[in-house]
Amino acid sequence: MRKNTIDGLKGQLNKNSKVSIIGHKNPDGDALGSTLGLHLFMKELGITSQVIMPNSFPDFLAWLPGVDEILCYDTEKSQCEEKLDNSDFVFTLDFNHLDRTGSLGDYLQKMDITFIMIDHHQQPADYAPYMLSDTSIASTCELVHEYITTEYPETKLTADIASCLYTGIMTDTGSFRFPSTTSKTHRIIADLIDAGANNSEIHQNTFDNNAESRLHLLGKALQNLKVLKDLSTAYIYLSQKDLNEHGFKKGDTEGFVNYALSLRGIKFAVIFIENKAENIIKISFRSIGDFDVNTFARNHYSGGGHNNAAGGKSDLDLNSTLEKFEETLTNYRKELS
Ligand code: 5GP
Ligand code: MN
Repeated sequence: MRKNTIDGLKGQLNKNSKVSIIGHKNPDGDALGSTLGLHLFMKELGITSQVIMPNSFPDFLAWLPGVDEILCYDTEKSQCEEKLDNSDFVFTLDFNHLDRTGSLGDYLQKMDITFIMIDHHQQPADYAPYMLSDTSIASTCELVHEYITTEYPETKLTADIASCLYTGIMTDTGSFRFPSTTSKTHRIIADLIDAGANNSEIHQNTFDNNAESRLHLLGKALQNLKVLKDLSTAYIYLSQKDLNEHGFKKGDTEGFVNYALSLRGIKFAVIFIENKAENIIKISFRSIGDFDVNTFARNHYSGGGHNNAAGGKSDLDLNSTLEKFEETLTNYRKELS
């Protein structure tokens, strides 16, 4: 394992440097906020920077400063590869393994370039000579804040940078409620508000911008809720048909799983979402307390994440996936009841 350090990096980055900044596939608020925040900061330093995402981002994040400058690998492959080929450094943010970037990861794997990982997921892979990896921190945006304020204390954060970082912290902490939220998180948030992040506007832009169809999709999801009381588990499923009938757009199901987790007495909540285009069932796992969903997702669903929030996939059809899940759960009766 390489050393978890960014010592020596600052001396290598200068105004002649070109960097690419990459987040994970299906970027969430933290992936997008951290990459855009760092990108806008690099520009403040006079460094040439390009954000590259494996695929596009959800509408509810489309207001973020700098989104227009993003290139997406799935639709702008050759431009992305050209930018990467001309880069001196590649920052990888909010993921811990190159395969979290889909087919972009295959290209990155073959590159002879210096990677810098800034991330908070468990069991980081060994591809980056420079790393700022801390699994105790709630969001990658907090780590980006630490990186830029300690390495470049003389460079002020702009309101746009502050807004990006605020957004990632807000989304990855469940609006400052998950146990990973600390007094330090709030001190960073205070610093970002002082730098010009408008907290109220950011919450509104992100959460109060629903299409009517999304609320109807939520209604469907709540109809498809199954509670396994004796296993302190609740799950939701959405078939491709459910999605199609409710005008599904990327990001529409974000947060749905939390409704299952909000039930009294529930420790483990799951949402299964059918994706016919990729021929998989995408799964999100959430828990309260000791039940480790990172290990559960790794062991059964080729996934991972954090102790209380993880994701994975199933290659079976939706019904078989649900049946197998219930069967698998019976092996966890002791931990869950
Ligand atoms: P979500 O359920 O919101 O998609 O993801 C929850 C957490 O698990 C996030 O930190 C996310 O990066 C991680 N995660 C989601 N899907 C996967 C996956 O397929 N593999 C791994 N390793 N992590 C995932
Ligand atoms: Mn994150």
